[in-house]
Amino acid sequence: MNGALNDAARAEARRLTGLGIRGLALTWVDNAGLTRVKAVPVRRLAEVAGRGVGMSPVFDVYLVDDSMTSSPHVGGPDGDLRLFPDLARVTPLAGQPGWAWAPADRYDQLGRTHPVCQRQFAGRMATRAAERDIELRMGFETEWVVTRGRGRDGPGDTTGATGLGTGGDEDGDEPRYAGIGPAYGMARLVELSDYLGDVLEALAAQGVDVLQIHPEYAPGQFEVSVAPSDPVGAADLAVLVRETIRAVSARHGLTALFGPIVAAGGVGNGCHVHLSLWRDGKNLCRGGDGPFGMTRRSEAFLAGVLRELPALLAVGAPSVASYLRLEPSRWAGAFQCWGLENREAALRFVAGAPDDPAGANAEVKSFDAAANPYLATGSLIAVGLAGIDADLRLPDPVAGDPVHAGRERRLPTSLPEALEHFTGSAVLREALGDPLFEAIAAVRHAEAELFEGASPQEIANATRGRY
Ligand code: GLU
Ligand code: MG
Repeated sequence: MNGALNDAARAEARRLTGLGIRGLALTWVDNAGLTRVKAVPVRRLAEVAGRGVGMSPVFDVYLVDDSMTSSPHVGGPDGDLRLFPDLARVTPLAGQPGWAWAPADRYDQLGRTHPVCQRQFAGRMATRAAERDIELRMGFETEWVVTRGRGRDGPGDTTGATGLGTGGDEDGDEPRYAGIGPAYGMARLVELSDYLGDVLEALAAQGVDVLQIHPEYAPGQFEVSVAPSDPVGAADLAVLVRETIRAVSARHGLTALFGPIVAAGGVGNGCHVHLSLWRDGKNLCRGGDGPFGMTRRSEAFLAGVLRELPALLAVGAPSVASYLRLEPSRWAGAFQCWGLENREAALRFVAGAPDDPAGANAEVKSFDAAANPYLATGSLIAVGLAGIDADLRLPDPVAGDPVHAGRERRLPTSLPEALEHFTGSAVLREALGDPLFEAIAAVRHAEAELFEGASPQEIANATRGRY
């Protein structure tokens, strides 16, 4: 280990110990979208920063139910990887006193980048953009449903194809929602004001810049959005925000469900991605001669995203459950079209106020929290840059409900359909590289099989408490 790193790690260990922190959680997100962890005592930080922590590569083909599949490059009990914490992102966890968190990068035993490391993939794509003089600012919105009670063993818990937990004490299939006030209702905020206040306090203590928090449409549903940051940072934040909400929920005897669908037939949880392109401190989503004032460069980038959306769904809406959410009239982005402030379009352009240079951005609405956020940011950059390389133009925007516009293409309506587009996407295969691309495809294929024949509510029950 180099001396500077060693010194930095020792200083960090002293700082954390001084704050009363005992354990450091090192997280990575697997291809199924679940955040996995190895934890170490803080006193081992310097050693861990130098040598990493061991883990099996088989996690790259884990499914949502903890079973595993295999791909041409990954599978089986052999081998070992090293997890390295990103020391610059170590964060004491306000919702878990005594604990700190750091996102981890994965390398092999010889110190070479693990080709399936999703976080380094996102970093590589950010570098690709930087090579074209483009800086991306991105941010995830987190939606979740709060239920009363904890644990996975309530009645009705073993329904579903996999017999997985449902994420709450249950009365049949219907979770006991906390916050029964109306959609976007002040009553719901009043009901849970201590809880939501604690969520805000914990995020603030961790230096997370919250933009908004509010009740959403579905029963017990809330949303929090945070300020944009660089692509890897945005994905790190998505993990940190979600785990913080989970921890604060637990301290209140509540369960936070982030899965794409909680109640079949209802409105689900999205995990929309906002993005803007910047150069020399200027937002390229405004001040240009493209549609609604975006620059031609931004237009080409967004056209690349729009073109590749059917394949991107295998990354951004990667669960069988995602397609129970991705329905028309739910603001989930079920149509392959774009529009100005159109909440039914998969791609919503936000022009922003004239006096707010940072306000202009685009929102990819189709994505949900089953997505690995590092794969999401990296893949969006890859397809956007391909749009720039091909100098693509956006089609006409859609105003109003795409259903009535009549000419709009529905995005894939099932995971196998999205997977077919994904496996045919040369852009994504090249960007991800074969080992990562094949592992993702294998996990999607296996999850589609896992839930074959399961009813929508069984799928919801088996997945909603997993992410
Ligand atoms: N819950 C909606 C979804 O599934 C999003 C609602 C909104 O924030 O526009 O994406
Ligand atoms: Mg929302």
